[in-house]
Amino acid sequence: MSGTDVAGSASRSARTMTTRDYVSAVIDGVVAKNPAEPEFHQAVREVVGSLTPVLERHPEYRSARLLERIVEPERVVMFRVPWQDDRGDVQVNRGFRIEMNSAIGPYKGGLRFHPSVNLGILKFLAFEQVFKNSLTTLPMGGGKGGSDFDPKGRSDNEVMRFCQSFMTELWRHIGPDTDVPAGDIGVGGREIGFLFGQYKRLANEFAGVLTGKGLGWGGSLIRPEATGYGCVYFAAEMLKAKGQSLAGKTCLVSGSGNVSQYTIEKLIDLGAKPVTMSDSNGMIVDPDGIDRDRLAFVMELKNVRRGRIKEYAEKFPRASYTTVEPGTDSNPLWSVKADCAFPSATQNEISGRDAANLVKSGVTLVAEGANMPSTLDAIKTYLDAGILYGPAKAANAGGVATSGLEMSQNSMRLSWTRAEVDERLHNIMVAIHQNCFETAERYGTPGNYLNGANIGGFLKVANAMMDQGLV
Ligand code: NAP
Repeated sequence: MSGTDVAGSASRSARTMTTRDYVSAVIDGVVAKNPAEPEFHQAVREVVGSLTPVLERHPEYRSARLLERIVEPERVVMFRVPWQDDRGDVQVNRGFRIEMNSAIGPYKGGLRFHPSVNLGILKFLAFEQVFKNSLTTLPMGGGKGGSDFDPKGRSDNEVMRFCQSFMTELWRHIGPDTDVPAGDIGVGGREIGFLFGQYKRLANEFAGVLTGKGLGWGGSLIRPEATGYGCVYFAAEMLKAKGQSLAGKTCLVSGSGNVSQYTIEKLIDLGAKPVTMSDSNGMIVDPDGIDRDRLAFVMELKNVRRGRIKEYAEKFPRASYTTVEPGTDSNPLWSVKADCAFPSATQNEISGRDAANLVKSGVTLVAEGANMPSTLDAIKTYLDAGILYGPAKAANAGGVATSGLEMSQNSMRLSWTRAEVDERLHNIMVAIHQNCFETAERYGTPGNYLNGANIGGFLKVANAMMDQGLV
């Protein structure tokens, strides 16, 4: 889609195409306009692939070129982040903030610090975030940002100097009513603290400009737990709709960071048996199940000592450790016999082959804690097999929803109790499930939570964009 399409003859021909051809043309336009960004192309394909029936029912969206507008970020900021390491050497990283869509509220979405971060990965995350935030029922637009900085192996002082340099540019683009970042991979409580401190110093204001803050300075109870807890609440709702529960179910969890840890905690609360965890070097299987004591060991290992998951098998000898080479197209974690799977590490961690293994080994529910952990082939395998599939933008929306609750508490200058926030989170996850379930049915694909989430998330943003004119 070139720029002249918007008002030119191509625009008129776009109006006469079949809806299917029009959707394909939009996807082709995204690929042509954003070369070498395969994750962004994948995310657009995944969402737009659900929208044909919506565009058929709402021709006004097509005349307003809504799809072409929604795939284009409102603003992209890319900047240099120079900092000095402990040896006194100069390091240079690249920082980003993608302000994707503000139709229903200020941009909202995490910051990721990981060497794999690039423009395409952040565009995919920001794009997904738009629909996820819409599903939460809260007034939040979509954004995402981060850097190719790797905090692994860096001292606290190095992380602080990096965060301060990163915020020295970012602060002018964000604000409590403009854009409110949070954490993501590589950005936890420590990093949010350093980022907030530098924002406050530069802006000369104590404002709710970041979420995931410390409890003593504006943070919300349950925010650290929210993504994992919310994902398990969503899975429990999917099972409930089938008259089942999580009690007694064996569960596969990948990753060992924030989302994985609290997914495991809530699975234990609800009587399920989590048996796996992983990191970017390998995976463990514990046939006895990861109980509260073992989870406490992992939390200390990962959050305090910042060690590797391999040490779990050294500490608990009945557990086994397997090295997983990065970039292989199959991970043995997804071949372990189980009932449910909670991918909670990173994008594209379940290939088509992995999905086939999951189905073969008895898994009947996949709830995505990570963003876009399943490739398009994997998703097709779940849908063809008719298993319960909770897509990321619905299943992991509890994190950003609780960030929304943190923003409300900051605006009101008060703090809710743990029970109050947990209840609101639970209610939001039930509402998201209901929305996806009913929307899937209304658009002729009952039980297809992917379509339900994509259409449900899209409609609210699309209607707001229509109301606000050509901006
Ligand atoms: P985290 O605390 O940094 O943990 C990430 C975990 O995934 C670590 O165990 C990490 O292992 C592993 N991992 C990261 N990249 C990997 C790779 N390329 N291959 C294999 N393993 C990898 O991050 P998190 O907050 O839990 O985020 C996990 C996922 O959830 C991400 O997709 C994120 O976007 C999504 N998410 C997070 C939130 C939130 O509130 N935090 C909300 C919604 C969605 P290493 O330690 O070896 O790197």
